[in-house]
Amino acid sequence: MSERIAFHILRMQENDIQNFVGTVQDAWDKVKPCETCGYWDDVSPCRICGDSARDHAVVCVVETSQDLVAVSRVRNFNGVYHVLGGALSPLDGVGPQDLKINSLLQRISEGGIREIILALNPDMEGESTSDYISKKIRSWAAGQNGAQMFEIKVTRLAQGLPAGSELEYADEMTLLRAFEGRREMSSMPPAETKPQE
Ligand SMILES: [Zn+2]
Repeated sequence: MSERIAFHILRMQENDIQNFVGTVQDAWDKVKPCETCGYWDDVSPCRICGDSARDHAVVCVVETSQDLVAVSRVRNFNGVYHVLGGALSPLDGVGPQDLKINSLLQRISEGGIREIILALNPDMEGESTSDYISKKIRSWAAGQNGAQMFEIKVTRLAQGLPAGSELEYADEMTLLRAFEGRREMSSMPPAETKPQE
């Protein structure tokens, strides 16, 4: 990708290059990751987190801001997002501490979230990251002494995205089907552990 951009720049006229660099500089100055979800926007909280018309109880977890843009094309998804900043990849030295997993758990612990949708790339890193986060949420939700702290559903997109492909390039119809067919990853212990009268 960066090679393609480099060749494109080499073919530009000098004026265009100056404009282009100016635009990149502007974006670099203005755009920052949202303090809530990690999406890059020129305001924080970003426009999505600041939108009260959205359902803030449903959080779609994606790897990158580009993936968020792809998912935002699924018109009937009206929740909010959490951008991890990548996927676990031991070979590349990317561990849990390099991703925004703790801030996700923090958001969950603040309450009010009923579903986490894991929309990671359908590749090995995406799969193992989904498993890791799902387990983390499960033990986090279960609390310290086995006392249920949160009741939360963790779902993942239906298979249907070609394996090894990137979410970012999936078409809207494929994403829509993957969303509608999403499955629960782990069933949390029931909230009421006391016998019901
Ligand atoms: Zn945000």
